[in-house]
Amino acid sequence: MLLTIRNDFHGTEAKVRAPGGVAYLSRQIERRVRRQLCGIAGCKCGGILGERGPQEVTIGFWSATGAMQPFVKVEALSLSITGRAR
Ligand SMILES: [Zn+2]
Repeated sequence: MLLTIRNDFHGTEAKVRAPGGVAYLSRQIERRVRRQLCGIAGCKCGGILGERGPQEVTIGFWSATGAMQPFVKVEALSLSITGRAR
């Protein structure tokens, strides 16, 4: 399924593919989403991924390798993060 992340300041949105309702974002996808939502250097409008305003998704951080990476999930999906943070 595709999850939509919105920024109501710029009126933009970005979609991420989320098999099973959750997307663990690579650095590359993270950059793409940020660029789509805001992309203005120095702009402080958004959150973790440049999102702003009401969302239909939950955005947070997970860690598999010690590096914190954003995830996006369906609001209602309960999720236990079992990363190996060091
Ligand atoms: Zn912005």
